[in-house]
Amino acid sequence: MSGKTMVCGIILHPAGHTRSPAMHNAAFEASGIDASYQAFDVPPHRLGDAIRGMRGLGLRQLAVSIPHKRAVMAHLDRVDERAAAIGAVNTITLRDDALEGANTDWIGALRALEREIEPKGRRAAVLGAGGAARAVVYGLLQAGARVWVLNRTEARAEQLASELGAENSGPLEGLADLAADIIVNTTSVGLGSTISPVAAEAIPEGAVVMDAVYEPEKTQLLRDAARRGARPLAGKWMLVHQAAEQFRLWTHTEPPVNAMAEAFDIAGETRR
Ligand code: NAP
Repeated sequence: MSGKTMVCGIILHPAGHTRSPAMHNAAFEASGIDASYQAFDVPPHRLGDAIRGMRGLGLRQLAVSIPHKRAVMAHLDRVDERAAAIGAVNTITLRDDALEGANTDWIGALRALEREIEPKGRRAAVLGAGGAARAVVYGLLQAGARVWVLNRTEARAEQLASELGAENSGPLEGLADLAADIIVNTTSVGLGSTISPVAAEAIPEGAVVMDAVYEPEKTQLLRDAARRGARPLAGKWMLVHQAAEQFRLWTHTEPPVNAMAEAFDIAGETRR
């Protein structure tokens, strides 16, 4: 680092192990950009101080993760239309002394799916109705997919579907009757376990199945998908592409997606 190195980073709590610095620093290096990306552990009661500090220190770029994505909106000068619709900000840019909030989770999910399928006109089932679901549903609707929201608590699925304009909603068991072309798990089921949110028999052959859960890389849902002749897509791609879109927004440069994906893998290995 030199006096000219641009400092940026991610705020989250607890900081634990995040692979974002590895991905972004790899992207800066691959693109020859003199910047350094750090993780900042910011507890909720310090969120306002942290955001004000951004302006004070001249930090031009900050990523936002759990638990701050919604609360941070109150501390910004502007929130773009997409982030406002999703109800969460994961990217802050300091531009002309104004703090602007944006969201790249939706486009990250979309770019990840587009590795396997063109969502337009497809029937998509989103499992879950929390924060990740909102971004995924928004992205699929932007791409012209027909979206069903399925959740353990049906009332939450119904509310999300009507707020964002999805076609329908129902319980997780509804997947069996849907003949979905695309399935995205955004529930936390499968995280660090061998449980799937849905029965293997409910996965149609040929469907693209993406799991937002990326730890373990091959979740039970993705294993079931492969066994059923569907096309599994690891949650890593959603994370890599949302980071890549942040990089694009901040640097106006084409993101080196492969370098970022490689850094994501290496950071995972180091953890083990
Ligand atoms: P959240 O807002 O807390 O939502 C959790 C969702 O999981 C809710 O729909 C909840 O259903 C459901 N759920 C929890 N336990 C369940 C169970 N035992 N059976 C069935 N459904 C259950 O969480 P989030 O922020 O959306 O995150 C969800 C997951 O996505 C996390 O694992 C997170 O790490 C991952 N994620 C990944 C990415 C990525 O880029 N790959 C990005 C964001 C999040 P109820 O409504 O019934 O409680």
